Amino acid sequence: MATAVITGSARGIGAAIALRLAQDGYDIALNDISEAMFEDNDIVERIKANGVLCEYFVADVSNYSQCEQMVKDIKAKFGTIDVLVNNAGITRDGLLARMSEESFDTVIAVNQKSVFNMTKFAGSVMMKQRSGRIINLSSVAGLWGNAGQFNYSASKAAIVGMTKTVAKELGSRGITCNAVAPGFISTPMTDKLNDAQKEAILRMIAMRRYGTVEEISGVVSFLASKDASYVTGQVIEISGGLSM
Ligand code: NAD
Repeated sequence: MATAVITGSARGIGAAIALRLAQDGYDIALNDISEAMFEDNDIVERIKANGVLCEYFVADVSNYSQCEQMVKDIKAKFGTIDVLVNNAGITRDGLLARMSEESFDTVIAVNQKSVFNMTKFAGSVMMKQRSGRIINLSSVAGLWGNAGQFNYSASKAAIVGMTKTVAKELGSRGITCNAVAPGFISTPMTDKLNDAQKEAILRMIAMRRYGTVEEISGVVSFLASKDASYVTGQVIEISGGLSM
């Protein structure tokens, strides 16, 4: 049985990706920042209902040694790592002039350094297997910029560069690396926006609605599938036509 690792998967887009990959037949290694994220949460049971193995691993993906240990633990438990989805991410929004150093550093560490940490360790397992799929969560903010998200846009643009570099470095080992760049998707992350912000955003979206987490997980499922075996180094925007 093949194994998929999804970071930041106790809720939101990560949980939807984990569920979809379970439906596709993968055993699932969930990850999130704390034990508390899995308390009063039926995600493990919902995944297991698909007849696959599922276990959660608590680790801070911005922490290099915690990622090294987590990848070792997942490999020991599941035997292989076939799909890595670098999904964990945070926002600390604010205009550049008022952005603290701590807010910049934290977002870069969680959104960007995590991709280095996890791809280095899980990528090494995939290289020995001579196969693997790596799928990174970028954002339209990383492609087009977004006022109030200097730190977040920087981290999500970096993901584009890292995605293409990994595709070039690991392609000859049978490993693909792609990114998806969601627009505005209904999750706890976007619930934080106020009504005026939500209304202004809707006016910019050709489809005049927010996306659903399933509309992200479906594309991730495709990128992990056999049908995408010759797709690498690409960034697929999933935004309902936001950037046109
Ligand atoms: P979310 O806040 O609902 O979920 C993110 C998950 O990551 C949470 O469970 C959180 O606990 C976990 N996490 C945070 N820091 C972590 C850490 N250091 N280690 C491990 N886990 C950690 O957010 P979401 O909307 O589901 O976003 C998922 C991904 O999609 C993020 O990378 C985000 O930037 C990206 N994205 C979201 C949207 C959107 O509209 N929601 C748009 C574009 C991109």
